[in-house]
Amino acid sequence: SDDGTESAPQPLPSISPSSSDHWWSDTTPYVSKKKIHSWFQLPNGNWELGKIISTSGTESDITLPDGKVLKVKAEGLVPANPDILDGVDDLMQLSYLNEPSVLYNLQYRYNRNMIYTKAGPVLVAINPFKKVPLYGNDYIKGYKNKAMESPHVYAITDTAIREMIRDEVNQSIIISGESGAGKTETAKIAMQYLAALGGGSGIEYEILKTNPILEAFGNAKTLRNDNSSRFGKLIEIHFSETGKISGANIQTFLLEKSRVVQCNEGERSYHIFYQLCAGAPPSLREKLNLQSAEEYRYLRQSNCFSITGVNDGEEFRIVMEALDVVHISKENQENVFAMLAAVLWLGNISFTVIDNENHVQPVEDEGLFNVAKLIGCDIEDLKLTLSTRKMKVGNDIIVQKLTLSQAIDARDALAKSIYASLFDWLVEQINNSLAVGKKRTGRSISILDIYGFESFERNSFEQFCINYANERLQQHFNRHLFKLEQEEYIQDGIDWTKVEFEDNQDCLNLFEKKPLGLLSLLDEESTFPNGTDLTFANKLRQHLNSNSCFQGERGKAFAVCHYAGEVTYDTTGFLEKNRDLLHLDSIQLLSSCTCHLPKQFAAHMLLQSEKPVVGPLHKSGGADSQKLSVATKFKGQLFQLMQRLESTTPHFIRCIKPNNFQSPGSYEQGLVLQQLRCCGVLEVVRISRSGFPTRMSHQKFARRYGFLLLENVASQDPLSVSVAILHQFSILPEMYQVGYTKLFFRTGQIGVLEDTRNRTL
Ligand code: ADP
Ligand code: MG
Repeated sequence: SDDGTESAPQPLPSISPSSSDHWWSDTTPYVSKKKIHSWFQLPNGNWELGKIISTSGTESDITLPDGKVLKVKAEGLVPANPDILDGVDDLMQLSYLNEPSVLYNLQYRYNRNMIYTKAGPVLVAINPFKKVPLYGNDYIKGYKNKAMESPHVYAITDTAIREMIRDEVNQSIIISGESGAGKTETAKIAMQYLAALGGGSGIEYEILKTNPILEAFGNAKTLRNDNSSRFGKLIEIHFSETGKISGANIQTFLLEKSRVVQCNEGERSYHIFYQLCAGAPPSLREKLNLQSAEEYRYLRQSNCFSITGVNDGEEFRIVMEALDVVHISKENQENVFAMLAAVLWLGNISFTVIDNENHVQPVEDEGLFNVAKLIGCDIEDLKLTLSTRKMKVGNDIIVQKLTLSQAIDARDALAKSIYASLFDWLVEQINNSLAVGKKRTGRSISILDIYGFESFERNSFEQFCINYANERLQQHFNRHLFKLEQEEYIQDGIDWTKVEFEDNQDCLNLFEKKPLGLLSLLDEESTFPNGTDLTFANKLRQHLNSNSCFQGERGKAFAVCHYAGEVTYDTTGFLEKNRDLLHLDSIQLLSSCTCHLPKQFAAHMLLQSEKPVVGPLHKSGGADSQKLSVATKFKGQLFQLMQRLESTTPHFIRCIKPNNFQSPGSYEQGLVLQQLRCCGVLEVVRISRSGFPTRMSHQKFARRYGFLLLENVASQDPLSVSVAILHQFSILPEMYQVGYTKLFFRTGQIGVLEDTRNRTL
């Protein structure tokens, strides 16, 4: 089909870029004409296609494809596109850009394994949950030499490469979507395309091998995704002057460390634990005194050990091989496995109450002995660390005994921090290995695979941080796509008053404002010795109630109006998660270890705590490690990320999950629609439509419609012919713009001309 031409008749629309106006409601008043295909909504919310056979008063009779006739309310009818537009590559090509038409178009393609569709500048990817024949060398070649052009991750990656070379500007591929929507797979597909460019010295192979490692240590089975990433990732791939891969660098964001010590029924902890238990060779097994996964409390609690179709033992072999590829020595690999075993054994340590104040002592059993052996510490030191806390009172140090719940917290905090340190250490090792061409002369393409907007029944600190990150990314998305759109108008010299877009600055302010923003208030409350989750919630209500993006709720809850919808957060655990304290006693224990890794972890933690501090100020003078709060650190990372992205040309991919069962072939309209709205794709289309989405060169316009002119204009230039056509058809001046090379039309304008043309031909 001709791009940008419209073939269905439409009355003149009233264009309203106002923010309250959803793009699907800007469908023009729809006159129910006979024989016209229309969408109508079933009681379950799904849309059905029918043909209007008659309309009387407020009701229309509609025939369904199966011949049935239905009476429906005429005002609920939404125009459908002509058949020739079925399954167009780009949603912008649709004449009628309404909700059901978009859903239908995506579904039409999805049913034919065309999981990729363009929505203007954005690539929409719908998770097939099965192998689709779209990848591999033949496809890579096809996109490389432009023999293939249909929407694809390869195509967008190819564009990134070309623009990097052409404009000498760094590029980014920003992938977003809900958990399980396909972000990580999409990132790998993009990496595959880049790796095919080659680099020499096997660097591209090494880059691909980082995936199994990071997935083993940072992914876990959740209820939504059997292979859910529990961290955000930015991988920056460097290119030499000659366009070959010269190295790479990985940055990770906010690993969910609570999963190490606690996870929900039916979910798993990080893959690597199960892989180790299932796949460790006998000698390693003996050295670490490894048991099967069922023997470890941290793994046992969620009552889920295996994943359908996954062989953990085999996966372990793949991870070991990948560790070799990124140059982690056998000795260090063994150290890594020892840390994992130590974490598992920590979870098995239990306590006995020793007095009537509920103070406890760790039980001297296998758990305790194994931990001491694996991290290389004195067993008495370990016992003390897990059952007491040193406090400074004046000039004296006093030793406070821990209660059962305090001791369990201390134990779990130690396990979490060992695991998180291990993860960071691994990423650092990988980066050392990938930094082959140390001097960075060329350009880079970054791929961002970061958790999407989350809204659950119960939303905690993790969702708070994740959704804050998504507000930042959404702002980047908005700004960029508005800018792009508007730049084209300016380039072609058309008279264009900037469209103000609905921006989410207010919501970002709610988070970031000092001293009265969500993050500042959280940090402040985290430093108060008597601060609790409830006092935090109260403080928010007290200071933020006038903010339009904020809503105080009862008790410990509050709500935020995000761009993707309102989310209610439960502040339970906010302060503790934000402080993320590891007692100095525990850090000191790690420094005293004879093993190399725990020592290094401790040094790293101490280094961090020298920075500006947040932490409870004990009246007695705290002996806790003081460090940046989690939220502040995350905000810093995010700012740095945005700065990096800001200097790149972005390419956006929005992944969509068509059902909640990870099942192939099921496409739930309501679920897809909700994601299209959430991730802002509908917004982009709305934005584009508030501008002049239909473009045609003067030549093409004159050729296509010139013959409709009543006067003979054969001798005139394309621009004069075009203007004559516009006048003859009384296209209102506000409905089009004449650029240097193209004509720009509001949505729906070409329809009238097309209609006349079709009748005349
Ligand atoms: P996310 O990172 O968004 O949480 P994943 O990328 O892990 O989601 O995808 C979840 C699952 O969906 C994958 O494990 C895989 O089974 C399936 N999947 C995603 N994208 C594709 C694809 N392009 N082809 C085949 N299966 C896919
Ligand atoms: Mg993922």
